[in-house]
Amino acid sequence: MDIALIQAAYIIAALLFIMSLAGLSKHETARDGNVLGMIGMGIALVATLWLALRDAPWGNVIAVAVAMAIGAAIGIWRARRVEMTGMPELIAMLHSFVGAAAVLVGLNTFLASDGAGDSVHLVEIFLGVFIGAVTFTGSIVAFLKLSARISSKPLMLPARHWLNLAALVVSAGLLVWFVAAHSIVPLLVMTAIALAFGWHLVASIGGGDMPVVVSMLNSYSGWAAAAAGFMLGNDLLIVTGALVGSSGAYLSYIMCQAMNRSFVSVIAGGFGSDGAVSDSDVDYGDHRETNAAEVADLLRNSSSVVITPGYGMAVAQAQYPVAELTSKLRERGVDVRFGIHPVAGRLPGHMNVLLAEARVPYDIVLEMDEINDDFPDTDVVLVIGANDTVNPAAAEDPTSPIAGMPVLQVWNAKDVVVFKRSMNAGYAGVQNPLFFRDNSAMLFGDAKERVEDIIKAL
Ligand code: NDP
Repeated sequence: MDIALIQAAYIIAALLFIMSLAGLSKHETARDGNVLGMIGMGIALVATLWLALRDAPWGNVIAVAVAMAIGAAIGIWRARRVEMTGMPELIAMLHSFVGAAAVLVGLNTFLASDGAGDSVHLVEIFLGVFIGAVTFTGSIVAFLKLSARISSKPLMLPARHWLNLAALVVSAGLLVWFVAAHSIVPLLVMTAIALAFGWHLVASIGGGDMPVVVSMLNSYSGWAAAAAGFMLGNDLLIVTGALVGSSGAYLSYIMCQAMNRSFVSVIAGGFGSDGAVSDSDVDYGDHRETNAAEVADLLRNSSSVVITPGYGMAVAQAQYPVAELTSKLRERGVDVRFGIHPVAGRLPGHMNVLLAEARVPYDIVLEMDEINDDFPDTDVVLVIGANDTVNPAAAEDPTSPIAGMPVLQVWNAKDVVVFKRSMNAGYAGVQNPLFFRDNSAMLFGDAKERVEDIIKAL
């Protein structure tokens, strides 16, 4: 394989990645999108290995092969074991690897060239290490928060914005020193500052805002990879990193809109959490309990039903009985549709994946904006393990920590049945006044068992 062939392979791989992203933008084509991405990555791997190892001694080839085999074995083991509910933390963990790789590539590039190189090359190294270090510790904090190993409460250091600003200004000064002196000292000092900066940036973000952080770190990991591509002089890595970086940034933008957060404050860190207090002490009155037989009656006498799933459906693995209930009701002529909030669950698209897995037809699964106006004409809404995403306080209470976040306006339907195990708050830690409304009833217990009970009672 000569250089021209390798370049051609890179172009084909890059095109396949772009087609993969296009495929991933719709449920119907997501599976094909994944396959195209895998083929692209296969081609990219073969071409890059060929380029790197064609003149290398056998010892190096074997070392790379062994490292790849170990990495692949760990990857396959983790991917097979992970539950859908554990995906976000796994993704956060994987982002941290990209960050660590960018830091190591940067330090190695500098040491291997003995500090030689023009200013542009040194700036590449410095920025690559900086982005990599921020991504590394930021992703580790995200992993710890999402897997509940540390509290999801925001760390509110005094003058935290000034600390962030100071970290950026000092790093800019170190960049000037680094380029002027070609010394490793400013590079190492900046690495330490960037590690602390990344940690602080994500630590100061509260639980309810974590979805934006996950996609933001996704974007950072892409830019870290692109920076590594510049350092290694690998065009494909630059293109791939830029694709991940820009699509992650765009996803962050969409998520910000879904949660009514400003994009700039996300990048700055510690947003949306100022002075936020939990309103769990507010007395909303009494809630009404129901049971599976009553809900079955309600459904029998209704003509339109909307199901709004949330994280609890994933925990209970209730998607299969929910799909069965859906087809039973549709056989009886009931119009059943799903309303999906953009941040329902623990990662973007979480609910869509579960419903697709249970073979719920795509055309009855609607986005929040497509269904919100239809609730006043809906007979029954089944809220299955969702909480923050159907909280009227977001729309009605300006003092709520989730104020301004667009939500599924389920309370406008004739009847609402909420499936959950207790009166506990959702991920954002906010009480939900929906549970106390006159047209709401609580169906307590594991969502999967309760849906199965309703199917039996039907
Ligand atoms: P929430 O976390 O707000 O609520 C889930 C509800 O499910 C809880 O109230 C819980 O109540 C209930 N539940 C849990 N297990 C079961 C079970 N086995 N059976 C029945 N009910 C159960 O989820 P939503 O999907 O409504 O909202 C998503 C939240 O997660 C938002 O705050 C969002 O910002 C955040 N988030 C989203 C991410 C994303 O990318 N989509 C990433 C990270 C966070 P109980 O304990 O009483 O059963």
